[in-house]
Amino acid sequence: MSAEATPPSAIFHRSLGKVYPTAVSGQGIYLETKDGKQVIDGSSGAAVSCLGHGHPAVIQAIVEQAQRMSFAHTSFFTSNPAEELAELLLSQSAGAFHNVMFLSSGSEAVESAIKLARQYHVSNRQPERINFISRRYSYHGNTLGCLSAGFNPPRREQFAPLLSQAFHHVSPCFFSRDASPGEAESAYVDRLLQEYEQKIQSLGPKTIAGLIVEPIGGATLGSVPSAEGYLTGLRRLCDKYGSLLLFDEVMCGMGRAGTLHAWQSLGNVAPDLQTIGKGLGAGYQPISAILVGRQVHDSIKASQDVLPFVSGHTYQGHSIGCAAALAVQKVIIEQGLLANVEAMGKCLRSQLEASTPHLKEVRGLGLFLTAEFKAIGGSPISSRVAARCLDNGAAVYLCSSAVDAVMFAPPFIITEEEVGKLVEIFVLSVNEVLLEGVSAT
Ligand code: PMP
Repeated sequence: MSAEATPPSAIFHRSLGKVYPTAVSGQGIYLETKDGKQVIDGSSGAAVSCLGHGHPAVIQAIVEQAQRMSFAHTSFFTSNPAEELAELLLSQSAGAFHNVMFLSSGSEAVESAIKLARQYHVSNRQPERINFISRRYSYHGNTLGCLSAGFNPPRREQFAPLLSQAFHHVSPCFFSRDASPGEAESAYVDRLLQEYEQKIQSLGPKTIAGLIVEPIGGATLGSVPSAEGYLTGLRRLCDKYGSLLLFDEVMCGMGRAGTLHAWQSLGNVAPDLQTIGKGLGAGYQPISAILVGRQVHDSIKASQDVLPFVSGHTYQGHSIGCAAALAVQKVIIEQGLLANVEAMGKCLRSQLEASTPHLKEVRGLGLFLTAEFKAIGGSPISSRVAARCLDNGAAVYLCSSAVDAVMFAPPFIITEEEVGKLVEIFVLSVNEVLLEGVSAT
């Protein structure tokens, strides 16, 4: 497929010079290319298409909303699908949040969450709180604010002079890789929390606006769940020093980990602000959101006459986007799909673990799993495996060059038989790459 001869493209593609197969249709877990090839959407793009493709209820909701009203600017109006979706999200979140701000992409949500955190402190008459602490090898989006918060060197390096100095980075939480030999999980977590505390002290506790964390590290390191006690420890630090806790669940949230919010599987520690995206609209429409805790909402509201939160995007709360996401979330609830995430997650994990002796580990939660390779002959193979998987009929997500790994995040509707097919293609692809020779490029 990668050798497909196409004329030069008018699109400024993600990778210039690379030839992309043209996806023309999608049904269930499959996408079809223009030459008729069926490809399993093995990572739902980047953990997006959680309902698979062509879901009739979602398409119907989009069509009906488009016919009724496509767009009403949120400076003037609210809309029924936005109100209903916000209520549904709050009702599913065990009282952790007070209201919801809708945006169009994960990056927009992270940007606005950072601004809300800042606004909260200014509203509370603590304008000296200007610093955020996030983690090396995290990913929070591609806009300049999000790149400042995140830390994936290849995405960041050339833009570094443009980035904000208000973001400070500590170690990621990656117990299976970074614990010292013999170090217990609790000791490892204590060590990381001490690093945070040192960073807070060196910046000045009263200058800290927020801590930003992906509860399950996603795009950069490949579905790395927080170690036990880590999120609880961060909550404690935030409460101690008066800073806010921000969870970025754009990739790991909305059911991907087997619970609606990933933090519900990781000690049940709720943040003050949480970004969600990808699985919210399942790719049927571009939509993201910030779940806002009561304290943040109340403080900003109390001072809004003198200090309004002036920040808006043209397409925030888009009616069709909200209608699509509402339909997606209703299908997930009505069909009990999170139970399938758990069952198929177990099935995929055990099949991956047994798939090839060349894996160092299979990690993650629910249907958010990463297979990391052992060092084979000194050169990484994941990019060739991912390319070969695509040739062989399965799209799997290539993690950053910080790890030699590919990520699996199939749609929540996947069946046992389809899991078997996905793993079969993975094994075939690994074997083909190894047969070619590990140092081949
Ligand atoms: N945060 C996280 C954790 C993400 O994984 C992503 C996207 N991979 C983003 C933010 C940015 O989302 P978007 O690409 O929709 O802007």
